[in-house]
Amino acid sequence: MDQPATKLIRGGRVVAPDGVRRADVLISGESIAAVGDVDLPPGAEVIDATGKFVLPGAVDVHTHLDMEVGVTRSADDFTTGTQAAACGGTTTVVDFATAYRGESPAQGLANWHAKADGRAVVDYSFHMSITELTVPADDVVAEMEAAGVTSFKLYMTYPERLMVPDEVISEMLAAAGRAGSLVCLHCEDDATVARLRAEALSAGHTGPRWHAWSRPPSAEADAVQRAIRMAEEAEAPCYVVHLSGAPALEQVRMARDRGLPFFAETCPQYLYLSAELYEGVPARAANYICAPPLRDPWHAEELWEGLQRGQLQVVATDHCPFDSASRRAGLAGGGWRDFTQIPGGLPGIETRLSLIYQKVVEGRLTPGQWVDLCCAAPARLFGLHPRKGEIAPGADADVVVFDPDFERQLVVENLHMNVDYSPYEEFVVRGWPELVLARGEVVATRGEPRGRPGWGRYVGRAPSGRPG
Ligand SMILES: [Zn+2]
Repeated sequence: MDQPATKLIRGGRVVAPDGVRRADVLISGESIAAVGDVDLPPGAEVIDATGKFVLPGAVDVHTHLDMEVGVTRSADDFTTGTQAAACGGTTTVVDFATAYRGESPAQGLANWHAKADGRAVVDYSFHMSITELTVPADDVVAEMEAAGVTSFKLYMTYPERLMVPDEVISEMLAAAGRAGSLVCLHCEDDATVARLRAEALSAGHTGPRWHAWSRPPSAEADAVQRAIRMAEEAEAPCYVVHLSGAPALEQVRMARDRGLPFFAETCPQYLYLSAELYEGVPARAANYICAPPLRDPWHAEELWEGLQRGQLQVVATDHCPFDSASRRAGLAGGGWRDFTQIPGGLPGIETRLSLIYQKVVEGRLTPGQWVDLCCAAPARLFGLHPRKGEIAPGADADVVVFDPDFERQLVVENLHMNVDYSPYEEFVVRGWPELVLARGEVVATRGEPRGRPGWGRYVGRAPSGRPG
């Protein structure tokens, strides 16, 4: 495989969490060689970044590529998904490998390696989702750590396939905490959800809006509160995935105020879309089913404030796309009869970086906060730093040259995720990656894919759960 040449990105504004500075970035092969005032080495390719931001490739720590869901699977595999990621400026994804009941974590991990091997355009890593504990938690954590997996995902809902009891969560929190791994939790109180679902269905309420009704913000907040108690008892860090509502954020805020190592991410869909989308014609409303569901607009206002104040540390996507036909077919195929049978998840792997940048345009987030939320903080928390998440000598040459004036309407024709609709089709964003490098190789230019499957490599991770 031919190596990328020496490249000098000249005259751009390099963004880091602590601010923006004018600097050149020298890339040698797959790594960043120098940052600052750099003399042009002979034979180097010059990339003019005048008037542009230069950022570390974005890191998306919440994706579901090629995942089996009912009779269908998420529509993006490791090629189409990482290609779309690259077009939007994301150069590392951490996907949720899953050990379903009856499978060992090693088998689950092997299954996900087989999905990704030779197919990804950008680098990737795995969390491990555990659905049961058949050996001591310490053994699971040690085995996964040796394989480069230093974070785990546990579900407090989805009893049919994924949920684990609180004892398993507590044991995993303690074991992961001892080892320097991080437990990530899907927080929705299943007892509440089960009761409200049954109530809705027995009253004949079958449409998409009842999906949101049966998974209220209070169910999320209750689960987060339980998670905080368990993490505190285990003296372990803990990370809440896809936090969606103001009451749950309030719990996180209180835990952090007490000094607990408790972290949370939110996703663009909870910041930009709202539950009003469930009120339209059911076939269209079904395209917005996800869990936790979209909320009333005032929650988003609180989430933005949480991001601004550092109470939420990460923006990830929960990218889990289904096209309209698989939505209509339902989890069992043959058409859904009620909201519980609609596959859930939204496409978003391509649009996150630019969507969050809109708040920089509005002056609500600083460029440093934007880069921290989308690139640096996820890399630090999940053991990818210093290779990923920072423009610094020695780091992988994952670099985004971001054009703040490049406007793009987020219609499906302009995007590369393998779905037939865009949740953001009315949106015209200002600012998009002009050039995206992954380990020195061009993987996207002006929002179009240029990478090749197999360039992306598996990245084993160092300890997780440390914010610094
Ligand atoms: Zn998810």
